[in-house]
Amino acid sequence: MQLTVLGSGTFQPTPERGCSGYLIEIGEKKILLDTGSGVLRQLSKVNLFVENIDIIVVTHLHIDHTGDLAPLLFAKHNIVKNNKRDLSLLGPPGFKKFFSLLNVVYKGSIKPEDYVLNVQEYNENSLNFKDFSITFLPVMHTEDSYGVRIEDNDGRTIAYSGDTDYCDNLITLCRKSDVAVIECSFQDDQKLSGHMTPSEVGKAAHLAECKRVLLTHIYPIADVKKLLSSCSLYYHGTIGIAEELKTMTIG
Ligand SMILES: [Zn+2]
Ligand SMILES: [Zn+2]
Repeated sequence: MQLTVLGSGTFQPTPERGCSGYLIEIGEKKILLDTGSGVLRQLSKVNLFVENIDIIVVTHLHIDHTGDLAPLLFAKHNIVKNNKRDLSLLGPPGFKKFFSLLNVVYKGSIKPEDYVLNVQEYNENSLNFKDFSITFLPVMHTEDSYGVRIEDNDGRTIAYSGDTDYCDNLITLCRKSDVAVIECSFQDDQKLSGHMTPSEVGKAAHLAECKRVLLTHIYPIADVKKLLSSCSLYYHGTIGIAEELKTMTIG
């Protein structure tokens, strides 16, 4: 199981951080978590294209997590290729309406061409695939924001908070995970409702007994050294900052 960070920032990009995106690879399967703007180009930097992706998961409908969804589907629509890979597109409640409106806006240019597109709304549930499962739990951000837990058949686990404030479901998602990718938007002294501070991440990771934590969704005003030091007051496992185009192997 591998994790590659494609976007570790927010709507306010910096040269180092763009909008949210994470690539999970389990065997031959490739899962894209969130599709913030820039993700399509970031994929190219790890020699991948939308055509290599099997499943796209959108955690919530904010633009910094969905901005490249239409470009990804436009690219897949237009590429000339035999035997295009089928694609599953999983989104929170309301996603089907969102997606149908995107289709109206883009006048058919993102509809599946020569492949099967399976658009599905998840809820508080788990979806089982051949080699792994994906569990979705609502988190505290917008009305329909979810965190995700991906577990392979050998028990290797990656949890991803999506955008959230501190909540019990986040701890459930991260329970004994090998890597928990948790949003840490601001320093403790910059707290904004609906997002996490490093002390909160540390408390959640400690309670969840995570093996490793990656702080992500970092706003430019947050000092990463302060994020690390505040988080380490409450959590004594390995803490890292999500760095784009870095790949981590789990197990
Ligand atoms: Zn958001
Ligand atoms: Zn966001």
